[in-house]
Amino acid sequence: MNIIVCIKQVQDPDIPPRDFKVDEEKMEILPPANVSPVISTFDENAVEEAIALKEEHGGKVTVVTVGPENCKDSLKKCLAMGCDDAILLNDSCFENSDAFGIARILAAAIKKVGEFDIILCGRLSSDWGFGSTGLALAEALGLPSVGQLQKITVEGTELICERALEDGVEVVKVKTPCLLTVSNEINTPRLPSVKGILMASRKQLPIWKSTDIDVDESKIGDSANTLELTKLYKPVFTGNCEFIEDESLEEAAKKLAMRLREDKII
Ligand SMILES: Cc1cc2nc3c(=O)[nH]c(=O)nc-3n(C[C@H](O)[C@H](O)[C@H](O)COP(=O)(O)OP(=O)(O)OC[C@H]3O[C@@H](n4cnc5c(N)ncnc54)[C@H](O)[C@@H]3O)c2cc1C
Repeated sequence: MNIIVCIKQVQDPDIPPRDFKVDEEKMEILPPANVSPVISTFDENAVEEAIALKEEHGGKVTVVTVGPENCKDSLKKCLAMGCDDAILLNDSCFENSDAFGIARILAAAIKKVGEFDIILCGRLSSDWGFGSTGLALAEALGLPSVGQLQKITVEGTELICERALEDGVEVVKVKTPCLLTVSNEINTPRLPSVKGILMASRKQLPIWKSTDIDVDESKIGDSANTLELTKLYKPVFTGNCEFIEDESLEEAAKKLAMRLREDKII
């Protein structure tokens, strides 16, 4: 079973919001200095799932990302976890692509990688969170896709996929090759082993530019974007604190309940 995993490197979502700054004029997020970027949360689940499927059914896992040079760190982490190959897609003409542009770049790279059974993506990224790159990639490659998975079971050339919905679970059958997006319920990503870290540190990662893949440059990057970012700002949260007091705790609780009812909170 050959699996391709698409990962995105993002600013660590555990950084407290107060430490982020937004340049509203340039519409850019300015993360705090000296904090290393990480693999987007659900993408780590996708990497874990790919390795687990390979361990059970054999095959090979290739991980790809579109991003800057320092994405090599995240790709090496994937190799250290157990992926077989990693490819960085990096070119100035790839910059500022929207989800459709990123999907076109990924589609061209995946065609070059060759035969595969499954493409795995996260259900959405931990930074911009459009949740559309995976689906746009499936469309670009003409593949069936199933999203938000909490379990994947292989039955021959079919996959039984459990979708994590808000109020239940949906079970869907899909034939390979296909694209699946995963949710965090699917697994707990493993930590890379020391042996894996050493092996990954010695591996040279290929960097593919637009000339290495068959991508139409007029359909990627800033000028091809179908969305226009018009405003980027940090919301300001304000709150009023009111103490409800009375002679006893019981009386105070009654008063609080009445007040919550008056304000239509209960
Ligand atoms: C007008 C506009 C301006 C923007 N400006 C910037 C900017 O200045 N800087 C910036 O960082 N972003 C910017 N973005 C966001 C950027 O376009 C998105 O990161 C990109 O479109 C992917 O969407 P997403 O992050 O919401 O990923 P989603 O669609 O939520 O990602 C879903 C899944 O797709 C896969 N995936 C997503 N991105 C990649 C990738 N690069 N490589 C491999 N797999 C991937 C992953 O598996 C991921 O879990 C901008 C977006 C718009 C619309």
